[in-house]
This record gives sequence, C-alpha cells and structure tokens, in this order.
Amino acid sequence: MDIVVSNRVARISPGAAVTGGLAAALVPAVQKSGVVWFGASGRVRRLAPDVFPLVRVEPHGRGSVATVDLPEQHHAGYYEGFANSVLWPLLHSRGDLVRQAPADYASYCAVNAFMGRTLAGFGGPNSTYWIHDYHFLNLARDLRRLGVTGKIGFFLHTPWPARRMMTQLPQARRIAEAMLDYDLIGFQTDDDRANFADFLAHELGLAPIGATFNSARGACRLVTFPIGIDAQEFANTAQAAAADPEVQRLRATYSGCTLMIGVDRIDYSKGLAQRIHALDRLIARHPALKRHLAMLQIAVPSRSSIDAYRTLQRDLAGLVGTVNGRHSEIDWAPIHYVNKCYDRSVLAGFYRSAAVGLVTPLRDGMNLVAKEYVAAQNPDDPGVLVLSKYAGAACELEAALTVDPYDVDAIAHRIASALSMPRAERRERWQSMMNGLLQHSIHAWFADFMQELKLPRRNVLPLASARRRAPVRTGSARDQALASHS
Ligand code: UDP
Repeated sequence: MDIVVSNRVARISPGAAVTGGLAAALVPAVQKSGVVWFGASGRVRRLAPDVFPLVRVEPHGRGSVATVDLPEQHHAGYYEGFANSVLWPLLHSRGDLVRQAPADYASYCAVNAFMGRTLAGFGGPNSTYWIHDYHFLNLARDLRRLGVTGKIGFFLHTPWPARRMMTQLPQARRIAEAMLDYDLIGFQTDDDRANFADFLAHELGLAPIGATFNSARGACRLVTFPIGIDAQEFANTAQAAAADPEVQRLRATYSGCTLMIGVDRIDYSKGLAQRIHALDRLIARHPALKRHLAMLQIAVPSRSSIDAYRTLQRDLAGLVGTVNGRHSEIDWAPIHYVNKCYDRSVLAGFYRSAAVGLVTPLRDGMNLVAKEYVAAQNPDDPGVLVLSKYAGAACELEAALTVDPYDVDAIAHRIASALSMPRAERRERWQSMMNGLLQHSIHAWFADFMQELKLPRRNVLPLASARRRAPVRTGSARDQALASHS
C-alpha cells in the first residue's frame, strides 16, 4: 500500500473544488492510482494510550482518504505549540518569534508517536509511507521503532534555514538525527537542501557520500524536488472564471483602473506589511496614480489561536486603514482588503483580472500563488509578476521582476516598472515562465518522488530528467558508485 501522510487531508467530494497544492496532486493520485491519503480529522479526542484509535476510511476511486482524531491532551502543545510557534518561525528564519512552552516538545513527540502507532497498525510494516511537512519530522523514527521496514519518504514544504538559525533550537540535533530514518528527503530548493546537509555535517559530524548520509539505521538521500502546479488546468479554470459573477463584479468595479493583486494567508512570513508600505510610498511619489491604480489584497486569516497571528491581523488591518485614509478619494481607495478565503475557481479569475501580481514573502518554501498567477494570465495580454527573491518559486520563475522584500523602495520601483512594461516584454517573460510551469507539473512531481522513493537502494541513480534541478552530487564518481551499493 502507498500511504501519503499530512497533518490535514482535503475533503474529496464530487464537484467540490480542490484547495491547496498538495491536494491538487493527491486527489488524482488517490482516485486513479489507489494511494491512501492519511491525516488528522481536525477533531481531538481523549484517548487511552493502550487503545488503538478509530481510523475512518472513505474510499475514493481506487484509493481512499483515512482520518484519525488526535489526542486532546497533546494537541495544543503539538499544533499551536511546537509546530507553529517553534518550528514554523524557525524554519522561516524568525527566531525572534519562537515561543516554546516547557511541555510543547513532549506533546509534539507524543503526537508523532501516536501517528506512528496508528499508521503502523493501519498500513503494516511493508507499506510505502510518504510523510509531508514539519508537523511530522520525527515520524520515520517512530515507524522504524515499530518495525516498519518499507520505504519512508519525507517532503519539507517550508524552507530549511541556515545552520545558525536551527542551532537556537535545543532539540534540533535530536530532530535532525531522527530525520535520518527517512530513506529520501525532498526539499523545495537547492539552498534548503544544502542548509540541511550543512546542519548534518557540522552539528552531527556526518560526511555525505554523494547526496546520501548514512546513519546507524540506513541511508538517507537528500534531493531537491520543487513542487509544481497543474498549469494547464489552472489556465483553463482562469479562462472559464470570466463568467463567474464575483469575477465580473471585480472587473466592473475596477474598469478604467489598473488592478494589482496579492493573495496570502495572514502570516508574518508573507511580507504583507512591506507590500502595503511600498504601495503607500508609490502613491505618495506619484499622486497621478490615484484613481488609476488599486491593489486587491486577499488576506486569509490563519492560525488565529496563536498570539503572533492575532497581533499581525490587528496590525495589518490598522496599516491598511492608515494607508487608505492617507490616499483615498471619495470614489476611490488604493487597497481593497478582503479577509476571506475564495475557491480556486474564482481566485483564478481574480488573478487574470490583475495586471500585476505581488508576491513579496520574506521567506517562503515555494509560494504557489506566484505560479498560479502566471498560469492564470491571458497569453495575449499577460500581467507582470513581482516576486520576492526569498520565495522558493524565484528559483524557477526567473523571468519575474524579482525584488528584495525588505527594501520597500525597491518594491515600489518594481511596481512602477511592471506598470510601464511594454506588452512585447510582458509576453516574452510570461511565455518563458509558463513553459517552465507546464514542464514541471504537480502530477510529475508526485509521480517522480514516489518513483525515486521506491528505487531499490542498490539502484540509487541520478534523478529523472523530468525535474528542473538534479540533487547535489558532491562526491566523486567512486563515492557515487559506493553510495549506489550502500
Ligand atoms: N488559496 C485559496 N483561496 C484563497 C487564498 C489562497 O484557495 O482565498 C490557495 C492558493 O490558491 C494556493 C494556496 O492557497 O494554492 C496558498 O499556497 P502558498 O504556497 O502560496 O502559501 P501557503 O499558504 O501554503 O503558505
């Protein structure tokens, strides 16, 4: 059995829109290839440690979606605590925002161990397990302890930061050590993979053979596997969205005005304040833009049970009010700020209506919004993407207007360049980015990772050519030959 594990699973119902990059890959994999997608149900339950939890299984096509309630006594320490108040800020290089309560790591370990027991009981020792994201860094160790011998892979959707950042975390060495029980670890960018390898080399004293680190239990290979989107499907959705009433209302509201768009969860990693300050500065410098330029910012509330997120929601609302108050006219405001989540089928039409896409994270594993904005454009008259150089997507979307998001003046300057870019240049840049997106689809990403994970160890080969970047192969040919027989 092939089991994919993530903290939450998407609802799969006929006709329902699929939200999020992982879901876009997994829904077809579940329905057509028979994969089981396993995750938390979103509910918690007080559970006795010796009772096997109830797993709800819903068949979908050839595969199924399986969910389990997480242990109530550990959920807050695991989710709001260690995962989202310790790991998330650290992985996004925000050591200043780390808040660790004494029992958080114990709860994180307890939930990983609970998931391990549940999975091992559900899938048995020989299944192939593909674990996703920072919620379950320790899960391979738990599965190995329970006798799982099948392949276990891991994909990190977030960045992995520089070594100095991770060493702030007292448990970092233990976690990295446990991660060596994965057979294969995928990263979004070469930098993330190199940072992790650097941590293993300097903090655990391990020397790689090629891209492989050996531990007491086996070999762990590090690869760069940037996640993609289904660009063709998204382009079709964007075209069809012209008929959507909300898209039509947006276009009518801003007819005669150049529209820019930002779409983000409200998260301190997304550089929302910097983007708003840049717009403020741009309009202050070019008052003639009033009534001719507006930014639609969809800002979806996220993790509101965590103080840092509540504070950010309040601060951003205040900042939007200040900037709108400063520049608004009776019939126009520069920022249209919406705290609501839209279906992708509508979002695609919003992207296509905007002449500029603003994606300015201070750190981001990939940023799928950047890719979706490009895929949604009208090929005849495409918009311009202004993209932070600290988004993983910047490694692939080289024809975007890249920007340092900490430099507010530079963002304002980039927006001005985007607004005046000739159509021929816009088409050229768009075509180059769209070609890349079409070549590296989310479906290829999923299939390639699975294939790589299942390679017998003695056949560890350079990665399939379908991906854009091969994993680092630092060793000599002899080292690689040794690695392939380890
Ligand atoms: N998204 C959505 N509706 C919204 C806002 C966002 O479906 O109203 C989706 C968006 O299409 C994208 C995902 O949420 O697929 C956000 O992914 P991204 O990698 O940009 O950021 P993350 O939220 O995962 O950090």
